[in-house]
Amino acid sequence: MSQAPVMLGIDVGTTSVKVLAADIEGKNICAEDASYPLYQPQEGYREQNPQEILEALHHAVQTVLGQINQPIVGVSFSTAMHSLLAVNEAGKPITPMLIWADTRSQKYAEELRGTPLGSKIYQRSGAPIHAMLPLCKIAWLRDHEAEIFQQAHKFLSFKEWLLYQWFGKYVIDYSMATATGLFKQESLGWYEEALAFASIDAEQLSKPVPTTHVLEGLSEEAANATGLSRRTPVVVGASDGCLANLYASGMNPREATLSLGTSGAIRLIAPETTPDEQMRIFNYLLTEKYHVIGGPTNNGGIILNWLQKNLYDNHCPPEAILAKAAKVEAGADKLVCLPYFHGERAPFWNERMTGGFFGVGNDHTLDYFARAALEGVVYNMYSIGQGLEDTAGGFDAIWADGGVTRSDFMVQLIADVFNKPVYVAESHHGVAEGAIMLGSVALGLVDSLEEVVKNTEKKREFTPNVALRSAYQEQYERFQQWGEVVANQVANSE
Ligand code: ADP
Repeated sequence: MSQAPVMLGIDVGTTSVKVLAADIEGKNICAEDASYPLYQPQEGYREQNPQEILEALHHAVQTVLGQINQPIVGVSFSTAMHSLLAVNEAGKPITPMLIWADTRSQKYAEELRGTPLGSKIYQRSGAPIHAMLPLCKIAWLRDHEAEIFQQAHKFLSFKEWLLYQWFGKYVIDYSMATATGLFKQESLGWYEEALAFASIDAEQLSKPVPTTHVLEGLSEEAANATGLSRRTPVVVGASDGCLANLYASGMNPREATLSLGTSGAIRLIAPETTPDEQMRIFNYLLTEKYHVIGGPTNNGGIILNWLQKNLYDNHCPPEAILAKAAKVEAGADKLVCLPYFHGERAPFWNERMTGGFFGVGNDHTLDYFARAALEGVVYNMYSIGQGLEDTAGGFDAIWADGGVTRSDFMVQLIADVFNKPVYVAESHHGVAEGAIMLGSVALGLVDSLEEVVKNTEKKREFTPNVALRSAYQEQYERFQQWGEVVANQVANSE
């Protein structure tokens, strides 16, 4: 039996909550997942019911506690970014929870992006201007749900609402705050000019606290619902993106983390950053000292699903499509695919960005289209990676995770296009492990983040194929050229 102290890491994701019991040396003991629905009542609307998430979370914690014998020394949180709900004075939700993927406030983002105020908000907060931001969602509520907006006592993310249920206090960690578009990193407080854009004041938001802030005195109701002792210290923790990075790359600023599931992201930890003039990347806080910079893409593994549904017989499994694409030569005979079939966040931050195939020739069979589309996904990640290198300096290696990394072909493609070694870490619970790493420092069980034991295993390792370097470089240049043409066309159209 493990002798090291055991903590719970709770990772509240978009479709499920993962609760992990692990010791602070990284040994996992047991875990439980519980899922909840995502509602799409209208085009662009993506909502959840916070009560349903809370119940799933309570159930998962209770299940894990029922399976372990060791005492729990603390709990630490990770949550998805950009969620927003309004509550009344009693803390009861008066709106559904709008999640990161909700784009109803797109018009507000478009109006703000590229203006002097938009640039200032991006530079100060670190959050690229986009409909995902609570900043834009609150402005939308003001104009479309005026009565609710008037009644709103607080505007919260899921984590803030949950901590209020548990402790009766409204707090938000700096990491989640940086992802609202309402925060000023320099002063670690709310940013007046952004609040004015959303027509709210700071009292309507939670109190910003460090990610290592510890809450004590769990409510009796929460203790009964979870099985946790009322004395259990709870670390507010950080956002899922920052903690995924902490888990995979630790505190090493020379190793990036690339996640490629349905969507994707590439991130890097950075002690110091310079703002990106082109607004390609986000700059969120892990702690007061450390930033996690990076860019998310809407168009990750979902492109493989698109190929399956729209180009191949629906019964053709992903593995078969990948095998066919792998047989096509690198660079797909100059057939370029811009994979922006679902709008795009980084590097364009434009929901109206659109995709397409360019340079189509008579000999391009279906498999060429598949190869071009999959290469396109990786070229887009590479272009975001270029933004990271410009802002934070270069990196030497990449940790990859997510469903797409099941394919050796795709991971090799990442290694070849980036021309860097790629390591695959196959933990289903990486984000929760990241929460425990941060939590162990917050509780004083480990002296500093730099001393946290990082024992992420390199399950598979890929080295770049030098012989293919020039083929991918040339194709990437074509990809960029077509990208500029389409981005300009989109910018000039209605
Ligand atoms: P999520 O990001 O939703 O948590 P996952 O990390 O599980 O999802 O990744 C899902 C993606 O993985 C899907 O978009 C799918 O196309 C892709 N995928 C599924 N099977 C494979 C496979 N064998 N090889 C590569 N990618 C795959």
